Amino acid sequence: MSFMMIAIDGPAGAGKGTLARHLAHIYHLNHLDTGLLYRAVALKMVEGSEDFADKEAAIRAASSIRAVDLKSSSLRDEAIGNLASEIAPFPEVRALLLNFQRDFAKHTSSRKQGVILDGRDIGVVVLPEAPCKIYVTASSEVRAKRRLKELHQKGIDSIYEATLADIKARDARDRRRKVSPLRPAKDALILDTSELGIDDVIEKACHFVDSKYPEARKGALHSSE
Ligand code: C5P
Repeated sequence: MSFMMIAIDGPAGAGKGTLARHLAHIYHLNHLDTGLLYRAVALKMVEGSEDFADKEAAIRAASSIRAVDLKSSSLRDEAIGNLASEIAPFPEVRALLLNFQRDFAKHTSSRKQGVILDGRDIGVVVLPEAPCKIYVTASSEVRAKRRLKELHQKGIDSIYEATLADIKARDARDRRRKVSPLRPAKDALILDTSELGIDDVIEKACHFVDSKYPEARKGALHSSE
């Protein structure tokens, strides 16, 4: 069977990370959440008390990112996600992180069937050659409600209006930037999860993956034996 490549994109809170993790498990793929790379750059800058408008500082932080930097639990903080979207427009930062992402895709473990990357520009820039591209989206109101629930589960106090405003601000930064803005690839399956539960999302995505890689599920069974 050919080496599998799946590209998942979408705005913040659409459920692409959850979907990518499930697909990685089902098809036995190496998964990279590429948002963590941008978050790791933001975290380094916070730790170094850097100015987020300072492009050179962002480039220095991006060039020092190693796989181990993606493990910090602070990366998941809402504030770090928002700050990540402030350094994401710098083309030099994107170029450095692009190398990391392509290396990951090239040097994946031979015990896996392939790779799955999720982010904002995977289908259009990072892996345009991926035969299987999925763009996961949902209305900003639904995404804000999901985020709010997650925050409350973590014991973080927040109100709906503030969460919705954050989601809209991040969408605007990710969609309007000049370099690699968030947009679906022409050949992507568009999956609107506003009205769907996670099981339905997984089922629709698997149906699409199976149409691109008909042997994949059989292979996943063998490779996990
Ligand atoms: O997906 P996540 O919320 O972790 O991403 C944080 C930010 O990193 C995004 O809002 C976006 O600005 C940036 N990002 C990006 N390209 C990617 C992944 C994330 O620009 N492939």
